[in-house]
Amino acid sequence: MEIVLATSNPNKQREIEEICNLNNIKFILPSKDFSPVENGKDFEENSLIKAKEAYRVSGKMCLADDSGLCVEALNGAPGIYSARFANTQDDKISKLLNELKEEKNRNAHFVCCMTLLDKNGNILHVSNGICEGKIVNERRGINGFGYDPVFLVNGYNLTMAELSSDEKNRISHRAKALDDMLKFLENYNE
Ligand code: IMP
Repeated sequence: MEIVLATSNPNKQREIEEICNLNNIKFILPSKDFSPVENGKDFEENSLIKAKEAYRVSGKMCLADDSGLCVEALNGAPGIYSARFANTQDDKISKLLNELKEEKNRNAHFVCCMTLLDKNGNILHVSNGICEGKIVNERRGINGFGYDPVFLVNGYNLTMAELSSDEKNRISHRAKALDDMLKFLENYNE
């Protein structure tokens, strides 16, 4: 099965391909014309916007991932603005740590919403995954991407960036959303 991955983020592509390793799916990237305007009000709307944009440029079955970090003490920010919180990833983390400063409530979670469109552009399935954790005061670890170095995973004494890719791919928000999506695909005949 060939599915267009509605993303231009190579980290997401890598993780999705790693998680789907044993499955009979070939992911391809959309053309350079792919430029979604992410003006939805939540992860689900933005996920659908990306999927539809990938369908517009490809005319094929598409899968979108919209994800981000929600911090309790910041009323859910950066949330759907996680990618646009600051210019560089390092600046995004610095801004986050600065906004939390002495804050005692460090609870946070990653969210991932995936939308699958069929080859006619209709919604086939939507799946969601959440991974709970806490924001630590300093960056730890070099694996993963994005906010991983400051996200301490609940139940582990490790940040997401200290986990191996195999471990992250077992417990992450993306893994959970994809797990549900793959279960759906197992019973789907094109
Ligand atoms: P999107 O492309 O609008 O979905 O942006 C997602 C943003 O959320 C990324 O650019 C990262 O900053 C952050 N993010 C999403 N998933 C992860 C993850 O697995 N680890 C760390 N940061 C993530």
